[in-house]
Amino acid sequence: DELISQIAAGEVVERPASVVRELVDNALDAGATQVTVRLLAGGVRLIAVEDDGCGIAEQELTLALRRHATSKIASLDELESVATMGFRGEALAAIASVSELSLLSRTATASAACLLDARSGELRPAARAVGTTVQVKELFFSTPARRKFLKSDATELAHCVQALRRHALARPDVGFALWHEGRLAQQWRATCAPGQEPGDDALARRMADVLGEDFITESLTVHHQAGPLVITGRAGLPSSARSRADQQYSYVNGRYVRDKVLQHAARAAYEDVLHGQRQPIWVLYLRIDPARVDVNVHPTKIEVRFRDSREVHQATLHALQQVLAAPRA
Ligand code: ADP
Ligand code: MG
Repeated sequence: DELISQIAAGEVVERPASVVRELVDNALDAGATQVTVRLLAGGVRLIAVEDDGCGIAEQELTLALRRHATSKIASLDELESVATMGFRGEALAAIASVSELSLLSRTATASAACLLDARSGELRPAARAVGTTVQVKELFFSTPARRKFLKSDATELAHCVQALRRHALARPDVGFALWHEGRLAQQWRATCAPGQEPGDDALARRMADVLGEDFITESLTVHHQAGPLVITGRAGLPSSARSRADQQYSYVNGRYVRDKVLQHAARAAYEDVLHGQRQPIWVLYLRIDPARVDVNVHPTKIEVRFRDSREVHQATLHALQQVLAAPRA
């Protein structure tokens, strides 16, 4: 079973940033309003993710590490409409198989927190406010072949920051902080109340914090509805050839995705307006009937499959064309 977990880990955990992605997904699923990530050596030596979510009950802690143990869906039918980030119950087991993992957690009704060491299985009482801290130390320490593929600490850190950006752009109602080597590297405060559906203003403020003020001055609000498909966000053209290669983000029902249909539509929309070295900038949020999109295509859930990709392509194209055709201020 250890071996199977390590193989599964290969699909889910590629580098520290994959661990950050999975642990922050879990924190958000737990209803966190504040998520703090602490890293040492770009995350290779330590990744700790703290949240103020619902916590894990003592008797559930061991179960949380078991493969295919998820508290989030009870039946296959629910896969059709899954609203949480996680649902496969693989991440913690996979990460634990290639690192030294511990879970420190406390629920609102518990009188104390409890610490579980994954390797020894030892459970002991500990101190903590309600919520969860997952610590992942020495990633790939037992699989040197994998560890060898990691890049410099600076590069791994950059990937971790990028993973956190993707979450932060989806959840302006949650505060995020990232510490590296004991120093605060990024901090994005919530721009609307916890659990609130963010309005254009809250989204724009979060985008400014995460992507820079320029992103806001160079973009316009996207609002497009095509039947049950709704596309919001911001898109624009940078005024100069400044490197903006990483300012394209797409979300489907709150989940960050990289999707060929969306990328193709964006390329088509920008085709006539893009000159020279400039890179398009856009953050698009698609809302679609969950039954019309399959998110269970890949273990990392970064790819999706639309039931009607033509419909999605058309809507995305139109949404962007409207913005790009608008007179610039
Ligand atoms: P999944 O997210 O697909 O359910 P994971 O392996 O990521 O699978 O997590 C396993 C289970 O551990 C989750 O279903 C959840 O019950 C619990 N869990 C993990 N992280 C947290 C957290 N930060 N707060 C509360 N519960 C958590
Ligand atoms: Mg998960």
